[in-house]
Amino acid sequence: MCEGEQTVLEDLKSRNGTTVNRERIERWELRSGDLIQVGRTVLKYLCGSDIETQYHEEIYRLATVDPLTGVHNRRAFNEVLERELSRARRHKTCMALALIDVDNFKRVNDTHGHPVGDDVLRELAWRVRSSLRREDFLARYGGEEFVLVLPDTDAVGARSVSEKVRQLVADVPIVVGKISLAITVSVGFIAVLGGPEHTAAGLLAAVDAKLYEAKAGGRNLVFG
Ligand code: GH3
Ligand code: MG
Ligand code: MG
Repeated sequence: MCEGEQTVLEDLKSRNGTTVNRERIERWELRSGDLIQVGRTVLKYLCGSDIETQYHEEIYRLATVDPLTGVHNRRAFNEVLERELSRARRHKTCMALALIDVDNFKRVNDTHGHPVGDDVLRELAWRVRSSLRREDFLARYGGEEFVLVLPDTDAVGARSVSEKVRQLVADVPIVVGKISLAITVSVGFIAVLGGPEHTAAGLLAAVDAKLYEAKAGGRNLVFG
């Protein structure tokens, strides 16, 4: 019912009841974001002029965030890489890219199962994310690979960020339930000065080659 400015929800003595935000109610003045449950149906109440905004934000989040790790997904990465490349080109600044790949990750899954592997990826993403600057951008590139876009960063800076990431993972075991796992990552990085010769595809191929060298060099290494 609409009562003045308020929208009120009333349960008309239904057998199974109505809950709002998991609490059973008889009468409730709805606020934007309330979760209403009737039987097995859950409804989210959005109100006011921002309903459209909230809807679009949710769609945007679903399209750009990796559901497992909560970091950006590859689609968002592609956009950011193009944007940062144009910016570097326009302002003649440098930028860097780092590709992070978990070492021997298949072994973790084979030994402890996929759910443990998933928890490892989650913890790893969290560690890396919490160590970054605001301007740095982290995405899950695919399976057990993550990518970093580092604006205004030269080779010295990129090496130091990559090395920090490597240590963050290698120095402290990842604990999943009762299992403690010594996980390492290999990192390839590349830093460029903005110019027309650099394309997203070119940078990705170059950084992939660096990662390959870090793997060939024995893993748990940074190569750039
Ligand atoms: P390397 O050191 O050469 O990178 O070895 P690796 O075992 O990490 O590489 P490989 O490419 O052989 O295996 C990657 C594994 O990552 C295989 C795949 O099952 C696992 N993987 C990819 N995505 C996920 C995921 O979302 N969850 C889990 N648990 N495992 C995943
Ligand atoms: Mg890989
Ligand atoms: Mg791997």
